[in-house]
Order: sequence, then structure tokens, then C-alpha cells
Amino acid sequence: MNMYDIIIIGAGISGLSLSHYCTKEGLKTLVIEKSNRVGGTFHSHRFEGEAPDFWIEAGAHTCYNSYRNLIGIIEDCRIRDRMIPMEKVPFRMLVDNQIKSIPSQINFMELLYSAPGIFTLKKQGESVESYYSRIVGKHNFERVFSHIFNAVASQRTNDFPADILFKKRIRRKDILKKYTFRDGLQTITDSIASQQGIEVQTGKEVKSIQSIDNQYEIETGDGSRYLSSSLALANPVSVAAELLQSPFPDISQQLSRIKMAKVESVGVAVKKEMVSLEPFAGIIPLKDSFFSIVSRDTVIDEHYRGFTFHFRPDIMDMELKLKRIGEVLGVQRDQLNHVIAKENSVPSPKIGHGRLINTLDSLIADKSILLTGNYFSGVSIEDCVSRSLSEFNRLKKLLSNR
Ligand SMILES: Cc1cc2nc3c(=O)[nH]c(=O)nc-3n(C[C@H](O)[C@H](O)[C@H](O)COP(=O)(O)OP(=O)(O)OC[C@H]3O[C@@H](n4cnc5c(N)ncnc54)[C@H](O)[C@@H]3O)c2cc1C
Repeated sequence: MNMYDIIIIGAGISGLSLSHYCTKEGLKTLVIEKSNRVGGTFHSHRFEGEAPDFWIEAGAHTCYNSYRNLIGIIEDCRIRDRMIPMEKVPFRMLVDNQIKSIPSQINFMELLYSAPGIFTLKKQGESVESYYSRIVGKHNFERVFSHIFNAVASQRTNDFPADILFKKRIRRKDILKKYTFRDGLQTITDSIASQQGIEVQTGKEVKSIQSIDNQYEIETGDGSRYLSSSLALANPVSVAAELLQSPFPDISQQLSRIKMAKVESVGVAVKKEMVSLEPFAGIIPLKDSFFSIVSRDTVIDEHYRGFTFHFRPDIMDMELKLKRIGEVLGVQRDQLNHVIAKENSVPSPKIGHGRLINTLDSLIADKSILLTGNYFSGVSIEDCVSRSLSEFNRLKKLLSNR
């Protein structure tokens, strides 16, 4: 059996960014991924057949110049020259089946009256609802802003801790404020995975973990076994909880307190002339079967337009989803012939999440078991990379003390 310095379970941005840091440090690193592709939520789907050069984002879609750790990796991978700006097209709202501007839905008197709260109110200990209702006004929050927050996290976010969604970060002024890549964001995860020194095995689902004499033995669905002296879980928190149940019940118990939400994403590519809607970056409905539509209008294509609808889970089958997509886009069902469906998942943190994470961190503090993912200080891409970096730094300290 091959022995690795570290095995990382999950090849999303959390696992791959960690693998990048470990390989750079000279650690013998193996990433094991359940799916046949790397990237997880980074999924720039390319349509075959008629639209072979057209891609849409089935998951993550936008990066910012405040994502400093991510940018560091992009630079290490030498793909900065493939970054492209995103077109300045607006976000809209869908109100009673009509496309409206966001400002047209806001009560500005209420906003002006409430906004000064931003200088005095603290986010700590507050929920998204309690904090932002006081910043934008209760009516504005219920009517407009709650839907925007729900669209960001693809679930109802009223009970999220207020400090988890948006963070102030220092910007890199030499980098585009908002960017993607010529071939979509998956360029980042593909490039990390193809770096020299990183071994990635796809199509292998980790089924069990055993901890024996300071080593970890991992078994995958096909019966393969792997040994390592350190182990990182970079998969959704519910899977991490399950895998750690037998070797580390105390860690597993804490992890299982963090709930997950499912998002049923459906992307379509449509010939340009079929869609009469003005170009837009995204649409947020006031009330509908989906949380948001993310458009490819941010990267113009000569022939196609693309739209990904992030549906609420378990309420519609595929035919109903396509019917709704057709209605919103004003396109016949049979014109929706380039379709991709993907299930994404996101954590649902609640008030007290920070304490739970502190407990988790103290449980793993002296162990060569690393936890990374989007369920720590936030769900954004940079939150994932930052967590991977801090876990890598902890591992380095552990190794130097041995
Ligand atoms: C629809 C959507 C849009 C988003 N858009 C943005 C955005 O534009 N900008 C932004 O900053 N953030 C965005 N986010 C948030 C961010 O993209 C995600 O939080 C982040 O990509 C999650 O990465 P991850 O590696 O932690 O998890 P994942 O991407 O979920 O990766 C986990 C990986 O683990 C694998 N896995 C699971 N179980 C096993 C197992 N047993 N064995 C082996 N492998 C396993 C999975 O197959 C998967 O590849 C978005 C999130 C969603 C859901």
C-alpha cells in the first residue's frame, strides 16, 4: 500500500487549495474525489454537439480582487493571463412574472431612515434578519433584501449569523475587481489539479476511515486502500460527519450539528435570437420555485445565451423545472435542448456557529486530521481557501514539533 504524507478527501476548491499548499511544501499528497471530475461546485459545463465552445457555470460563477489567497494560487498556477473581466450587466428582480430593476422595489424613505444604523450596530450575535432589518428597514428587508441574501446562499438565510455572508477584505488593486476566466472558473480547479506533484484520483468515493497508530487508512467504494500520516476532510460537512463517526465520534458529533441545504441547479444554453430579455447578470425572484438565475451574459458569446436556475429542492421534477425556465425566458420547451442538471450543497449555519467552530478547532488542535470546507467562517470561495491555508499552517506546526 502506498504511503502518503497527506490524503485529502474531496477535490473542490477547499481540497484542491489545500493540496496546492501541501505540494508546494514538498508533502506527498493524494486527493481522492468521488465524482469523475474535479472542481465540485466549480463546474463550467461545456455543451457538446451544436454548442461545443459554449460553457455555463453550473455552480460558482464570480471571483473578486479581494480573494487574496485565491489570487496567490492563481499566480502560482500561472493562469492570471486567462482571467477576464465580467460584463457590466445588471441584476434584476422578478416580480409577478415581470422583470424589474432592484431600486424600483426599494422603499428609499425607509432605507434613508434606517441606514445610519450601519455605523453603530454590531453584527456579532445577530441574525441576518435581525441585523439587516435594522439597516435597510423591516419592510425593505422582507420585500427585497431577504430575497437577495437567499439568492446568495441558495436557501432561506434569515436565521444565518449576520457576520457570515459578506466580509470586508483588502482588495488587490492590480487585479480586476470582478472576474472569471476565458473558459469559466473551472480553469482554476483544473489548473491546480494538473500541477506537478499533486496526485488526484477521481471516481473514488471514500467509504471509511480508520485511525491506527497515528496513521490513517482510507477505503474507497471499489475496495482500494490508502495510508497516510495526515488526513484532510474537504467534503461537505454532512459527509465529513459520517466518515468520522467511527474513528472520531466527538468530532463527528460537532460536525453533525451543522445542517446542509440542497440546491437543484439547472443550466440551459439557448440560441441568442430566441431570447428577447435584455442582458442581465442575474435575476432574483420575490417568490418562485428558484432562488436565483445566474446568466452567462457576463461573458458575451456570439451565438448563445446561457442561464442557470438554482431551484429550491424537492418541489419540482425536471419537466416542471424546464417548463418554468421556458416561461421565465419566454422560450418554447423544445428550444431548451442544451440542458445540464447538477445538485449543489451549501451549509446552513445558525447563531452560535462561531462557538461550534471553536469547539471543533479545539478538538482537532493536536491531531493530524484537518478539516476544511465552506462551513467555517463563510461560504465564499475565499473563505474556503483561507480555511485551507490556516489548516495547512497548523499542520506545518504539528510536523515541525514532531
Ligand atoms: C450554486 C452556487 C454558486 C456559488 N457561487 C459562488 C460565487 O460566485 N462566488 C463565491 O465566492 N462563492 C460561490 N459559492 C460558494 C462556493 O463556490 C462554495 O462554497 C465552494 O466552491 C465549496 O467548495 P468545497 O470544496 O468546500 O466543496 P465542494 O465544491 O462541494 O467540493 C467537495 C467535493 O467533495 C467530493 N466528495 C464528497 N463526498 C466524497 C467522498 N465520500 N469521497 C470523495 N470525495 C467526496 C464532492 O464530489 C466534491 O467534489 C457558490 C455556491 C453555490 C452552491
